[in-house]
Amino acid sequence: LDYQGFLARALEAEWRGRQQRGIDLRLRMARFPWLKTLEQFDFDCQPSLDRTVMRELAGLSFVGRAENVVLLGPPGVGKTHLAIALGIKAVDAGSSVLFLTLETLMSRLIRARQENRLERMLQQLTYPRLLILDELGYLPLSREEASLFFRLLVRRYERGSLIVTSNKGFADWGDVFNDPVLATAILDRLLHHATTLNIKGESYRLREKK
Ligand code: ADP
Ligand code: MG
Repeated sequence: LDYQGFLARALEAEWRGRQQRGIDLRLRMARFPWLKTLEQFDFDCQPSLDRTVMRELAGLSFVGRAENVVLLGPPGVGKTHLAIALGIKAVDAGSSVLFLTLETLMSRLIRARQENRLERMLQQLTYPRLLILDELGYLPLSREEASLFFRLLVRRYERGSLIVTSNKGFADWGDVFNDPVLATAILDRLLHHATTLNIKGESYRLREKK
């Protein structure tokens, strides 16, 4: 190798290393409960899912535009899998991601409010470029929780992306948030710039059992 060739190789190795360390760090910070990729998702099992839309989402322009994604469907159809897979894509592409179940989000917000640091907590939750909120709808929220959720949404609105998964259709969100007026305001912010995917198939877990 001549000097130039050597330098090019050394720099490339250094750059790759940094890239990889960045990905590893962001992956740890994202707190995914498990890792599943889009390549591991079997689209043939889920004919109701529009592949073209998924491919478009995998290109991540929604993250660049601070738009949202809502994944709706019954248990086991792959909502969490797809949310994590999109999250991993975003991590690879250099974005900060945070995964939270709705339950964890709520306990954090409630505790922060009790300890007089709600403002700081809301601020922290606006930092990730992509925030994934999993399992909205399994547990109904109190009025206080619903209003905290709304405040978070207002903070992130047009600043960062959200992926929300839910087993409940939008018509039932009034019950989930215990307040139809607040639910309408939440849906208004969430859906203004959003892609909604309605997954209708049967549970992949049960299919595996069969
Ligand atoms: P949901 O969040 O909708 O309840 P999950 O995403 O947790 O469902 O999916 C349940 C399990 O089945 C996960 O292990 C997931 O990886 C797997 N799974 C679901 N759908 C598919 C699919 N179409 N191809 C491959 N694995 C799938
Ligand atoms: Mg799930």
